[in-house]
Amino acid sequence: MAQLEINNLHVSIEGSEIIKGLSLVMRTGEIHAIMGPNGTGKSTLAYTLMGHPNYEVTAGSVTLDGEDVLAMEPNERALAGLFLAFQYPSAVPGVSIANFLRTAINSKRRALDPDDKGIALLDFRRLLIDNMNRLKVSQDFAGRYLNDGFSGGEKKRVEVLQMLTLQPRFAILDEPDSGLDIDAIKIVADGVNLMRGENFGGLIITHYQRILNYVTPDFVHVMLGGRIVASGGAELALDLEENGYEGFEERWAQKAR
Ligand code: ADP
Ligand code: MG
Repeated sequence: MAQLEINNLHVSIEGSEIIKGLSLVMRTGEIHAIMGPNGTGKSTLAYTLMGHPNYEVTAGSVTLDGEDVLAMEPNERALAGLFLAFQYPSAVPGVSIANFLRTAINSKRRALDPDDKGIALLDFRRLLIDNMNRLKVSQDFAGRYLNDGFSGGEKKRVEVLQMLTLQPRFAILDEPDSGLDIDAIKIVADGVNLMRGENFGGLIITHYQRILNYVTPDFVHVMLGGRIVASGGAELALDLEENGYEGFEERWAQKAR
């Protein structure tokens, strides 16, 4: 079992504090969801966990099995088993999906064993085709440039394809459902369900409850104003679906009484 622990995290962007003391413990084997309205700092949390240079951690800690994640470079975080599926994935013209994924797999293998010769081409093709079929991504995608001209739904599926191919220990999925119709949401959810198991921890960041109909989270956290204000089970998501974020804290405080 691995553990990702965020403790009293404070993060600023260009001098203004966005995350204001956020704590969260995730273990492999668990799926967590963070739900929050727009502008509450969800993407800031995701970027901070992956080491984006614009986000300044002013206090708190993030550790992975006791190792200081904040001291690691972004590539070191990836090698340690962290993965981020972006809310707005960037296009990388000139780099095909196949090349990108093969390079990523091989750099991970070489980090573990400097003499590694890399994944055999046939093994890689089989892995890629299997995963593309699972996500209903057309096979000619492999040769297309990463996210270049992709629709919103295609970009999200390619993020999940990366996750399935790289097999991270912890994945943070930043609004994997945004802009998707219900069929595409189901495919993305299936991808997460395929990863689900004792060696995987997932953090699904979302504004809406609907993806959680297809990936049942073990824990739901509500994020408002840069902190987690409530944690519970799937019933929290249902409350938000029914009543919205407006007045959530008062409702929650009443329930606690
Ligand atoms: P969420 O993902 O929950 O919608 P974000 O983390 O994207 O929220 O944004 C949180 C706050 O930080 C917002 O008020 C947003 O305007 C601000 N913010 C995000 N990125 C930047 C940036 N690069 N520069 C300045 N402010 C930013
Ligand atoms: Mg966001």
